[in-house]
Amino acid sequence: MLQQKTGKVIDKLAWVCMRNGRLLVTRSFGKDTFYIPGGKREAGESDQQALVREVQEEASVSLKEDTIKLYGVFTAPAHGKDPGVMVKVTAYLAEYEGVLKANQEIEALRWVAYGEKKDCSLVTGLIMDQLESEQKFFIAPRIPGGQYKWWLFDADETLFHFRDRAGLDLMFSNLKKDPLSEEQYQDYKERNAMLWAQYEAGAIDAQVLAERRFEPWVTEQYCASKLNNLFLEAMAKVCNPLYGVESLLQSLKSQGVHLGIISNGFAQLQKVRLEKHKLLDYFNFVLTSQEAKVAKPNRAIFDQARSIHMDGVEPEHVLMVGDSLRSDMAGAKNAGMASCWLNVAAQPVPVGVPAPTYEVLSLQHLQQCSSAHVFRDAAQPTAKAAIIKEADVL
Ligand SMILES: [Mg+2]
Repeated sequence: MLQQKTGKVIDKLAWVCMRNGRLLVTRSFGKDTFYIPGGKREAGESDQQALVREVQEEASVSLKEDTIKLYGVFTAPAHGKDPGVMVKVTAYLAEYEGVLKANQEIEALRWVAYGEKKDCSLVTGLIMDQLESEQKFFIAPRIPGGQYKWWLFDADETLFHFRDRAGLDLMFSNLKKDPLSEEQYQDYKERNAMLWAQYEAGAIDAQVLAERRFEPWVTEQYCASKLNNLFLEAMAKVCNPLYGVESLLQSLKSQGVHLGIISNGFAQLQKVRLEKHKLLDYFNFVLTSQEAKVAKPNRAIFDQARSIHMDGVEPEHVLMVGDSLRSDMAGAKNAGMASCWLNVAAQPVPVGVPAPTYEVLSLQHLQQCSSAHVFRDAAQPTAKAAIIKEADVL
């Protein structure tokens, strides 16, 4: 996003990308203002070529050139520049391929509502004004207050970031060993993913999963089970909550909703992590597949939660929130519960997979969808849901 003065006007291009009533914006490392994705042309580039390159550099996705369409030209004082310096932005709509992810100089991607204009540059705000005048911003889905007495949450990548690389690095550093090479880490990830798939299918139990994933590093001093414990201890230290967790939980509590966690993770990690971040008291219970001896998406873990922890509440009064279509959303459906997919990368639901009841882009978005007021309601109802990815999520 190199900026270059042309007289006193900085000439830039921008990509207008809306999903479910929200606009995609980016924030660079060390900055606190969000900008619409885009940047300057390089010598000899057409607008289309420059836009495709800039978007790839910032958000990791490829714009489909034949879908690029002029949206408008916007001029405003340039953010962070000397007084009098203006920025002229030629904005385009375009479809894209790939998975949105912060890239290169971009620290975070975020889907903003119109009410978050204050976090954005002036010219981004002008574009938002235009979108607002066309009623492109809306809050969706609306999750009716009071409909669900219980909200159940998945833990990893729903309440907490799952930073397994950082956890492994800390574990090996505690063991006074070299950190894993990228190749070793990829091997671990592959082995771990295969074991989790077997575990969620009920083919192996938690103990087998815990032991097999660390088999290559077993020594006389450290058995696989000990390594798994050390890893979970390290993970409790490095896994931070997603942006907006506490605010969402407070909001739900103030609406009288009961909260629980159903996680396919290990019991040892869950409570330590919740206590560390002072989130444990929000939840009426935490149930792990290790304790339940059955994993999501099997409905038995949900039935167990309802009968033991939720006073036998009927499934239609329960909403399950999670990031995984395979375990959380399918599990809720198996159990007869409503589901809300935390889809931070704004991915489509794959063909053949049942759509979740609701879909949101971030926890902040979920809070907006579930608040009785505060945010302007949707002018345009939508059958599907909305999404957003918070800065530190993408
Ligand atoms: Mg998860």
